[in-house]
Amino acid sequence: MDPLAEKYLRPRKIPSTACSGCGLGQIHKKIVMAIDELGLGIEDVVWGTGIGCAGRQTFGAWKGDNFAGTHGRVYAISTGLRVALPRDKKIVLTVGDGDAFGIGLLHVLHCARRNLDVTVIVCDNLGYQSTGGQYGWTTPEGYKTDSSPYGMNEPNWVQGGRDVLGILREAGATFLARHTSLEGREAVEDIKKAIQNRGFSLVHMPFPCITNFAGRALGTRKPVEVYRWFKEHTDGNVPGKPGDALFKCGVYFDASNSRVEYSELVRNNVAEVQRRYR
Ligand code: SF4
Repeated sequence: MDPLAEKYLRPRKIPSTACSGCGLGQIHKKIVMAIDELGLGIEDVVWGTGIGCAGRQTFGAWKGDNFAGTHGRVYAISTGLRVALPRDKKIVLTVGDGDAFGIGLLHVLHCARRNLDVTVIVCDNLGYQSTGGQYGWTTPEGYKTDSSPYGMNEPNWVQGGRDVLGILREAGATFLARHTSLEGREAVEDIKKAIQNRGFSLVHMPFPCITNFAGRALGTRKPVEVYRWFKEHTDGNVPGKPGDALFKCGVYFDASNSRVEYSELVRNNVAEVQRRYR
């Protein structure tokens, strides 16, 4: 077994039950690498999971404390835990694109506004893949899915001059980045920065869904062809104007540790009220 998996993950969750060739395991491994390189142990991290493929594959895998939330609701649980837990305990969430940018978007915005100290890793399979491959908020324009047989014709959150990370920045997030699951060292380094920020951090990580997205949109389930398509649509590999890439990667915004964090604000307010009215 992989030594990091042996150190941090429960044996019954290894190997993953994800489809062969799925990029979810690559993301899971990068998070564990980041945790290890920061010198954190299983007692230092509480791991929360959402719904869909991302939630299912990472649920209960962490050897330490775990929790799960229904679609888009893992943030409310995190808010309560953040206020209740010691300041140094890290809260890491693995959620899907629906949890973060669809059903859960309003909850995410309020976490960003409050600058809640959590690290959200958005495992984005470009649509509703666990239910058979319907389009979602990040499905690329023009690509066929189970529910868009003539091609995705709705505007999404990542093309046409929109970037959902911009909305999160305006809402008050203090660390934002994007990396595909195919990236290596850069992705691990930015996950480490996200965990170290004492405030709201989100790393958007698109990954290849071989079974549903690729099968319909790309017309192939061969991992090598799907991974090539990902590479060809990632920043730095796309001919044309800068910004033409579907996956614009790197740090989007870094204002780490620049704003008061939410649980600290709550504690300060409580102390002030107690001082005034005791
Ligand atoms: S359906 Fe797609 S995203 Fe879900 S586990 Fe299979 S390959 Fe991965």
